[in-house]
Amino acid sequence: MLEIKNLHVKLEEEDKQILKGVDLKVEAGKVHAIMGPNGSGKSTLSYVLSGRDGYEVTDGSAELDGAEILELDPEERAAAGLFLAFQYPVEIPGVGNMTFLRTAVNAQRKARGEEELSSGEFLKVVREKAKSLKIDADMLKRPVNVGFSGGEKKRNEILQMAMLEPRMCILDETDSGLDVDAMKLVADGVNALRDEGRAFLVITHYQRLLDHIKPDVVHIMADGRIVKTGGPELALEVEKNGYSDILNEVA
Ligand code: ADP
Ligand code: MG
Ligand code: MG
Repeated sequence: MLEIKNLHVKLEEEDKQILKGVDLKVEAGKVHAIMGPNGSGKSTLSYVLSGRDGYEVTDGSAELDGAEILELDPEERAAAGLFLAFQYPVEIPGVGNMTFLRTAVNAQRKARGEEELSSGEFLKVVREKAKSLKIDADMLKRPVNVGFSGGEKKRNEILQMAMLEPRMCILDETDSGLDVDAMKLVADGVNALRDEGRAFLVITHYQRLLDHIKPDVVHIMADGRIVKTGGPELALEVEKNGYSDILNEVA
């Protein structure tokens, strides 16, 4: 579903190379986890895939279902089925959460040639999905993420994902700042979306999220590259010994 080849990325503003040849292939129906020390380029990878400004791709490619995405606008990537849950969700004062969700969902349906949802249909779906994430009616009415706690912001990211039903879901440290109960809600939300036709790239610092979202494949990223790939046992090894053993071994 997602195939990244030899991806090299530098900052536009300074001559700083951040991704130094990322190779990654994620198959439909699978959950891949990326772990790695702080500063290794995990968020940069997720930003570059989703089309954030400020980065220059100097080499390599990223294909979604066989089509190059790196030249597309962010909304075109979203319409193609890509979704990113941010490590740091952005507050959008003045834009109601419900309006935001409905606009996003309908824009995406339109891009796919599907009919827009009526307000009745939309309300029914959003209430049901919000309920399962313990997002109350008040949070749906407030401006996007404004005054939300860290955990509420992260749950709101998962609500967006559940509403948009993307094919390729990227979650950047969605577990950071969550207590155990909130993390379980988030994991349940992700697990409910697991499907043959959908894939996940779960970026996480800690193994504990992977107790709840069982990955098929675990990658370790360091200094702008994937340096090691294995099964779920790799995450347990990181939990037990930290990154230094693995980094020494590949050095
Ligand atoms: P991770 O998510 O793995 O912690 P990041 O992708 O956030 O890593 O960062 C990778 C490296 O790139 C870090 O050294 C970080 O300081 C640097 N970096 C990322 N974005 C910027 C930026 N806009 N300006 C300066 N340095 C940046
Ligand atoms: Mg970081
Ligand atoms: Mg990060």
